[in-house]
Amino acid sequence: MKIKCPICGKREASEYTYIGDATVKRPDVNNTDEQSWFEYVFQRRNPRGDHEEHWQHTAACRSILKVKRNTVTHKISSVDLEGPWQGQGEENN
Ligand SMILES: [Zn+2]
Repeated sequence: MKIKCPICGKREASEYTYIGDATVKRPDVNNTDEQSWFEYVFQRRNPRGDHEEHWQHTAACRSILKVKRNTVTHKISSVDLEGPWQGQGEENN
């Protein structure tokens, strides 16, 4: 599997580190509901098909990327930078 970093170009997946599910949203800091925090910290889906994930290009620019990947075929449909550079990614061709 290859991932096209918006800064460095297309590189082998071994240069990247999987960080986690990009669809998980942190509860508001004032939220005292234990179940909400339990689900945020411990509960993860195991989707079949398209999924959004965070990866870091640890062997090069160290950018945090949001990768849209199919968990069955491993086809990557898009890669985008996270943080203030978000929205400057492109299709993963
Ligand atoms: Zn990079």
